[in-house]
Amino acid sequence: MSEESVRPTNFIRNIIDQDLASGKHASVVTRFPPEPNGYLHIGHAKSICLNFGIGQDYQGQTNLRFDDTNPAKEDIDFVHSIKEDVQWLGFEWAGEVRYSSNYFEDLYNYAVELIKTGKAFVCQLDAEQMREYRGTLKEPGKNSPWRDQSVEENLDLFERMRKGEFAEGSHSLRAKIDMASPNIKMRDPIIYRIRFIEHHQTGNKWCIYPMYDFTHCISDAIEGITHSLCTLEFEDHRPLYDWVIDNISIPAHPQQIEFSRLNLEYTVMSKRKLAALVEENLVDGWNDPRMPTIAGMRRRGYTPASLVEFCKRIGVTKQENMIEMSALESCIREDLNVTAPRAMAVLDPIKLILENYPEGQVEELTAPNHPNDEAMGTRVLPFTREILIDRADFKEEANKKYKRLVIDKEVRLRNGYVVKALRCDKDADGNITTVYGSYDPETLGKNPSDGRKVKGVIHWVSASHGIPATVRLYDRLFTVPNPAAEEAFSAVINPESLVTVTTAVVEPSLAIAKGEQAYQFEREGYFCADNKDSTSDNLVFNRTVGLRDTWANNA
Ligand code: ATP
Ligand code: MG
Repeated sequence: MSEESVRPTNFIRNIIDQDLASGKHASVVTRFPPEPNGYLHIGHAKSICLNFGIGQDYQGQTNLRFDDTNPAKEDIDFVHSIKEDVQWLGFEWAGEVRYSSNYFEDLYNYAVELIKTGKAFVCQLDAEQMREYRGTLKEPGKNSPWRDQSVEENLDLFERMRKGEFAEGSHSLRAKIDMASPNIKMRDPIIYRIRFIEHHQTGNKWCIYPMYDFTHCISDAIEGITHSLCTLEFEDHRPLYDWVIDNISIPAHPQQIEFSRLNLEYTVMSKRKLAALVEENLVDGWNDPRMPTIAGMRRRGYTPASLVEFCKRIGVTKQENMIEMSALESCIREDLNVTAPRAMAVLDPIKLILENYPEGQVEELTAPNHPNDEAMGTRVLPFTREILIDRADFKEEANKKYKRLVIDKEVRLRNGYVVKALRCDKDADGNITTVYGSYDPETLGKNPSDGRKVKGVIHWVSASHGIPATVRLYDRLFTVPNPAAEEAFSAVINPESLVTVTTAVVEPSLAIAKGEQAYQFEREGYFCADNKDSTSDNLVFNRTVGLRDTWANNA
């Protein structure tokens, strides 16, 4: 496939194509504008892939701009995590990271300009009065009694707001638009408010902060953004976006275009809800592997390629919809099926003693790291008289459908010999504790010479050489497809979203497993070492996703 043929098309790219063809723009500049009030989630990945993807494909530029006008909720830690996540996804922003707060002085000057042209005024209604005056969807609002103050009075009051002479909430700067507009956003919206709060970038320099709608469009225009892409909830902000740009002396006029948000089943996406999960200790932080955050998904074992592919598959439209979890899971499975080395891990072990194998002998078997990719090399599997197999892979008796180990029947050990079960021991409760069997020394890498057919294949680990590990089996975080619609979403958390297995034993080659390196544990799924808790003395593996197919079809 050529580069060209895999380029996505969507209505936004169509608009850009037309703008370039008509000469409206010579090149494209986009931006990704996160608010540093939480970690990025997979919905942001959609926006990142859209904005940076356009920047790349059109040889344009994409800025990373922190939309930091609300110091009350923002934090420098979020700034760091966001930068890391964008880079991890594989994107590079143009030049330095930008902050809306870089433009506070410009924004102030544009506000002064609006006052001077009679298009903004300092209002002294308090929050409750403001609500009363605003009107409703059915009824127009009323003009503020301060609306017709002179320009001089407004300039003086606004300057004194900046100097810190007034209390929070007592004064605000409002655009003078239309209190009767059917769009409530246009009813003399507040563009500056007083907040005596330290800002993570500007410290205590300011005690007045510009509102989002005033800041965003001007920041876009200052940066020469051509297409300002945002989610659908900003549709009714667009007239205000355009009004501000049209009423100040700034030459550029970026075009705001809205697209639908990503919604994903069995999870929540709003930062407010994700923050609540963290604050209520319902998860192990923003990077809990069950979180739909980029940091959580990375810790879970998702790869950048799988997330980028997912964003490509879901596309960009104006239709609200809910994406099935399986769409995401198939992206990671398809990626890891090709890229993840294979390994063996027994999660619920029982011992199999091969009585005809010499005691104390250790044989080094060689196993390919990938069944279809020789370039991935091989590894050594120590084989010993005592091995561990999964409890579910042995039965005293079973019908023909059960293609695993049964007394008096044979099964192949993956990458090893054909073995036969002879008898077993049980504890007082009837649980099998040890299986006794034998191996056929003539069957390494070949079928039995007498034509015996051995259908089943099971995975195993040497009992003496295997390494104990903790294995975390993750599942969807919620029990219902749309937890955000619940009254209390914390009530629908899936109690089995994390099952910690402490009995697992993994093959010795995994001793050096590092965080985020993915493996396919044969017949079990895709796993990676936990990037926070796994150490060489205490291996911890996270299940990224189960296998779609059973190993019988895969081998
Ligand atoms: P949330 O509602 O989750 O708190 P937000 O919209 O407040 O998110 P921002 O940091 O303001 O988060 O978003 C940065 C950019 O990412 C914005 O352009 C926003 O439209 C986009 N974005 C946020 N959530 C989604 C989503 N679910 N799907 C697509 N784009 C999103
Ligand atoms: Mg926001």
